[in-house]
Amino acid sequence: MAFLFLSNSDKVNIWRSELTRLCPGMDFRIWPDVGNPEEIEFALIWSPPEGELAKFPNLRVACSLGAGVDHLFKPGMIPEDVTIVRLVDETMGTQMREWIAYAVLRLHREMPVFDQQQREGLWKSHPNPDTAKTKIGILGIGELGRMAGQALRAFDFPVMGWSRSPKQVEGIECFHGPDGLTEMLSQTNIAVCLLPLTPETKGILNAERFGLMPKGASVVNAARGAHIDDDALLAALDSGQIAFAMMDVFQTEPLPADHRYWNHPRVTITPHAASLTPPYTSAPQVAENYRRMLAGEPLMNVVDRKQGY
Ligand code: NAP
Repeated sequence: MAFLFLSNSDKVNIWRSELTRLCPGMDFRIWPDVGNPEEIEFALIWSPPEGELAKFPNLRVACSLGAGVDHLFKPGMIPEDVTIVRLVDETMGTQMREWIAYAVLRLHREMPVFDQQQREGLWKSHPNPDTAKTKIGILGIGELGRMAGQALRAFDFPVMGWSRSPKQVEGIECFHGPDGLTEMLSQTNIAVCLLPLTPETKGILNAERFGLMPKGASVVNAARGAHIDDDALLAALDSGQIAFAMMDVFQTEPLPADHRYWNHPRVTITPHAASLTPPYTSAPQVAENYRRMLAGEPLMNVVDRKQGY
């Protein structure tokens, strides 16, 4: 029985020392040096090459090395009988909460305008926006969306959240289902995307949805690049329907050098850095799931294969 680390993460040595400390006797193998593939039962993975996991006939659990699992849902990626689990980590949530709070405050206080003024040496003030009238609509009010929403409430923004199933979250007005999204977006001044990427959510922020939002609304995306129709967003920015966008994730990463987002004066980008998997705080849950698998106990943070997240 062996544990496989399958990722090009530069933190592999930390993962190895933490997991072998937490699970004495763990046979920790680092891909592609897998030894006998029949001995691999648990794999901690990020973006495996297509077909790679099918080489491990006794694989029982595939754990995503992050909160997202879309990298594991390409056709034929994970054999049907393998349980997929993901990371739900407080530190990851804290990082995401900071990034979202920063993005919302940056766009709310029109910092891209002041950045431009500074470049031009222009001293000019503008009326300050009204926080109580700036409604934040969070698409995906799950683990990360809830933490971000509560942080935004602390700044006195009215916060709304959208999910697939009905939800009740303290201080947040909740919507669900397709009609709920229309209702929420029609009142949303800053949309924050924290959805998992699934066939249902791909391209969800498109021309029609930007058109539902009040003119001059802004968009924040820290989920996956494919949630946004880039041409539609650029057109909405050009027309003024959308005032500003801040994005951490893109359809192609790294963002191609000639992409219009790089130099757009009302777009802020970060390089998929909003929230990085922290090995020291995440290792205990991986170790616990490994222990549970060996003991035949129910696993934590199991992904619903049918829903894709
Ligand atoms: P989560 O706990 O699974 O929450 C997902 C939320 O999205 C849930 O509220 C879910 O609704 C909702 N949802 C899913 N499909 C939907 C649909 N078709 N219609 C309406 N709502 C839908 O996920 P999380 O841990 O918060 O993570 C969210 C995403 O953030 C990840 O999948 C990942 O892609 C991204 N992420 C990005 C970074 C970064 O650095 N940029 C870091 C970590 C994660 P229900 O509550 O009804 O299930």
